[in-house]
Amino acid sequence: MDVPVLEISDLNVSVEKKEIIKGLNLSVGKGEVHVIFGPNGSGKSTLLNTILKLPGYSIDSGEIRVKSQNIQQMSTDEIANLGIGMSFQHPPKIKGVTLRNFLNAINRAEDLDDEIRALSMEAFLERELNVGFSGGELKRAEVLKLYAQSPALLLIDEPESGVDIENIAVISKAINKILQTDRPKKQRERSAIIITHTGHILNYIDADIGHVFMDGKIVCTGNPRAIMEDIKNLVFSGCVTCTKEQRSEDGSLR
Ligand code: ADP
Ligand code: MG
Repeated sequence: MDVPVLEISDLNVSVEKKEIIKGLNLSVGKGEVHVIFGPNGSGKSTLLNTILKLPGYSIDSGEIRVKSQNIQQMSTDEIANLGIGMSFQHPPKIKGVTLRNFLNAINRAEDLDDEIRALSMEAFLERELNVGFSGGELKRAEVLKLYAQSPALLLIDEPESGVDIENIAVISKAINKILQTDRPKKQRERSAIIITHTGHILNYIDADIGHVFMDGKIVCTGNPRAIMEDIKNLVFSGCVTCTKEQRSEDGSLR
């Protein structure tokens, strides 16, 4: 049995002295795709930023382990080198660095030409990274970055926000390729946590496990599509009073 790529236990995180994550537990196994639903401002991006220990997010208590290694003493760079890649909700603009130079600096994939073409990024290679990019172009560049990094765990923050349907289809196809979803589940090497506000991405990417994140912790875990249907009917406030049993796809209680 492979060790989980990510294990989070009893995590408490604050930002600017305000408690945002309050006792969160999460385990992501090799090859698993998790989606996290949750209202705006509940701390979903904070969770991903904390896994990479971006500045400003302070772990008050609890543990984050990546491939069994506690990240407590590690730098963002060291954590990324364990195989964690992030597609940001709001990617930073980097003046003076072209997309081509950036990709060359991080590339671990053998050949990016096919992906550059698949994501229609040929015309952007000499442009400064993310500067003046539209919503769809930003997310396409983020996914190209993930492809270049070839991480073991992809953290994907709201891939569909600010993006039209055509771009969602293109981005999802590239994510599916990175996640090797054409292989049988047991043969997939990479895992993902995908944050989604609308759940729209589930029409394109086959997720294994869904979670509802509210007020700093996971309040429900189960079949992603069943959760999405419930959220459509009940909206997030309905999750507070919902008494459904929380079961994962294999039927075990989580
Ligand atoms: P979500 O992604 O679920 O919409 P966020 O994680 O972005 O939520 O934000 C959760 C809360 O933490 C919000 O109240 C937000 O304003 C606050 N927050 C997040 N990052 C920062 C930051 N760098 N500085 C100050 N407040 C922050
Ligand atoms: Mg967010």
